[in-house]
Amino acid sequence: MHSAPCLDRIGRSESTEPLAPGSFEAEPHMIEPRTDLLIVGGGPAGTQAATTAASKGGKVTLIEKQVVGGAAHLLDCIPSKTMAASALRHSSVRNAEKLGLPTASTKVDIGVLSGRIRAITDDINRSWLELLGSQSVEIVYGHGRFVSDREVLVATDSGERRLGFERAMISTGSSPRVPEWAPVDGERVLTTRDCYDLTEVPEHLVVIGSGVTGVEFTHIFESLGSKVSLVVSRRQILPHRDAEVAAVLEEDFQERDVRLVIGARAEKIDVEAAGVSVFCDDGRVIRGSHALLAVGSVPLTDDLGLEAAGVDSDRGYIPVDEYQRTSQPHIYAAGDVTGQMPLSSVASMQGRKIAQHALGQPVTPLDYSKVPEAIFTEPEIASVGLVDVDAAALGRKVRTMKVPFAANARSVLQHFTRGFVKLTSDPATGVVLGGTIVGHRASELIGILTLAVQADVTVGTLVETLMVHPSMTESITDAAE
Ligand SMILES: Cc1cc2nc3c(=O)[nH]c(=O)nc-3n(C[C@H](O)[C@H](O)[C@H](O)COP(=O)(O)OP(=O)(O)OC[C@H]3O[C@@H](n4cnc5c(N)ncnc54)[C@H](O)[C@@H]3O)c2cc1C
Repeated sequence: MHSAPCLDRIGRSESTEPLAPGSFEAEPHMIEPRTDLLIVGGGPAGTQAATTAASKGGKVTLIEKQVVGGAAHLLDCIPSKTMAASALRHSSVRNAEKLGLPTASTKVDIGVLSGRIRAITDDINRSWLELLGSQSVEIVYGHGRFVSDREVLVATDSGERRLGFERAMISTGSSPRVPEWAPVDGERVLTTRDCYDLTEVPEHLVVIGSGVTGVEFTHIFESLGSKVSLVVSRRQILPHRDAEVAAVLEEDFQERDVRLVIGARAEKIDVEAAGVSVFCDDGRVIRGSHALLAVGSVPLTDDLGLEAAGVDSDRGYIPVDEYQRTSQPHIYAAGDVTGQMPLSSVASMQGRKIAQHALGQPVTPLDYSKVPEAIFTEPEIASVGLVDVDAAALGRKVRTMKVPFAANARSVLQHFTRGFVKLTSDPATGVVLGGTIVGHRASELIGILTLAVQADVTVGTLVETLMVHPSMTESITDAAE
């Protein structure tokens, strides 16, 4: 097995051992024996597919150009949630005085936090390498590119390797979108991937983009001690969520002195000695010490040889059918590169299903309408299934029930009263169709509703379910009442 590569500042591997033991320095252009499943990209989709296929006896090769674990574990999901964990504790500390626990420190130490991120991501990388190694998955480090519909050429540190496959999977992920007007330099003008090894807390951060990523980083940096201005291009933050949900978070941000610049679209950034100026389309100029771009992502399919493989793409994304097959049925695609739900959890599940399908096992296609999602602010926001904005858009009649956490004993005694539970059910059958939870640890509470939606549980069954008292879960059964 290949030993863990060192991670440099942006997560690229500085491999000291360019080839895995057991592999060989192939003559360029010599085609190596075919593998059952060849995976290009070792993020959650790729690693999960590799381990599932290997556990079922498949011969698996995984090509990764940076670090096994992928952007999710090393650059996006896990580092941002490690920062959010500190921000969450900070919320508790901020309220501690009200619980009789005065505390002197109200800021997060960025040095400790960066060290923690590195330790956690290194551990995850090591665990993946151990697991894949124990399953005899061959890992090839380098950039993979299809040269035909049966071969991939990998540019490794020690030359090119040409790998043949029976079936292949593309899981190369995405990277942050950088508009042409944004002079990203990693120092004053940042993408989210520049945030994990900052040595100083930005004095005044201008966050551009108020979707999930923008609001999470607003919450994080305000907790770290930054003054934060959030540029919101629509009339509310989280433009795709219902207004009631956005309002709870807006209220929290305003209480924390976050400046909400509503209805302004950033279109230019000037970098000066003292900081940055963000120019908006309505004439407003927001000055700060740093700017952070949170304006979406782009698929990583450049230089992947899709044409040579005969795989169709659409504006860089790879369309797939319900079994994740591309226009070439023996080549699958999973994760962010497909433009489906850009979530680590979804990418892993797609990878698992692809491995089963590729090895000829029966597979139930993933039901995207029942995938839970969470936003890691405080309060957290989590939802699953058909929520009332979706129902309104579809013109579907639903029954909606809402209970505020201010009426929940555990919330009150913990001093986390902001938010609510909102359930939607079918008026005819009483089956729970979906729900939204805005509140402390909503990302955990949503598990109950996810199971209810998945298993077609009725509100009657929820009402009959006895929950611990006092607990926040009681609000779920109360909403069902
Ligand atoms: C700031 C942020 C926070 C997030 N938080 C969450 C969260 O809390 N929960 C959640 O579920 N999702 C979260 N996401 C989304 C999640 O990170 C992605 O959905 C997930 O990374 C997608 O996984 P993937 O396997 O498609 O690709 P990735 O994780 O991007 O991995 C792709 C891999 O392919 C490699 N690669 C690319 N091209 C090649 C090539 N040609 N040859 C070889 N290797 C290649 C890359 O080096 C990379 O390692 C977050 C995203 C961001 C930006």
